[in-house]
Amino acid sequence: MATYKRIVILTGAGLSAESGLSTFRDKGGIWAKHRIEDVATPAAFARDPESVLEFYNTRRKGARGVKPNAAHEALARLEADFPGDLTTVTQNIDPLHEKAGTKNLIHMHGEILKALCAHCGAKKPWEEDITIDQVCGACNKDGGMRPDVVWFGEMPYRMEEIYAALGRCDLFISIGTSGNVYPAAGFVAEARAAHAHTVELNLEPSEGISMFAEAIHGKATQVVPAYVDRLLNS
Ligand SMILES: [Zn+2]
Repeated sequence: MATYKRIVILTGAGLSAESGLSTFRDKGGIWAKHRIEDVATPAAFARDPESVLEFYNTRRKGARGVKPNAAHEALARLEADFPGDLTTVTQNIDPLHEKAGTKNLIHMHGEILKALCAHCGAKKPWEEDITIDQVCGACNKDGGMRPDVVWFGEMPYRMEEIYAALGRCDLFISIGTSGNVYPAAGFVAEARAAHAHTVELNLEPSEGISMFAEAIHGKATQVVPAYVDRLLNS
């Protein structure tokens, strides 16, 4: 442990799969059943807001009752016990990292349990369905309330902070991500450029596997707690 001072952790759908949330890109995943261009783009929301809202209302219902699993808990423990800087960047829109206790967290693709007003940019916690006639409490206009999730064609959140953290990290851990969605898929190259050690923890080798110095494959609830123990005891 003494060897590392600044850790960046990137997480994806594979981390939450064992909490019962569907992954997006796997066979049988969400994008096998819905077309991205129908439900997850600004153009889709402009064309057919009801279908887009319904798609995310279903996701929101699913995210409300879920519980963090042993992998989320291990990462929260690592953050609490690690004496240096640790930043967790997640591609997941579920609330499982924060439910497990992670504090320094960046939701780069937004949060399903928040609503965003397309008219004025106001954001607020949101547990219920969003409807097309919902009025924004900040600007009083209707028709603009949408989930606070980053759609395809939109810029992920807090990228400057993320690149700054990657540029100074000495350990980069990528967990449960398929390695084919940019910009997150490019983070390992940024970490390597900063001379960080790079580790992949994933169910199977990702598309970016060749970029990592170390890789451990298996279920997140097994490999993540084991890796965290190793790190904290080294
Ligand atoms: Zn508004």
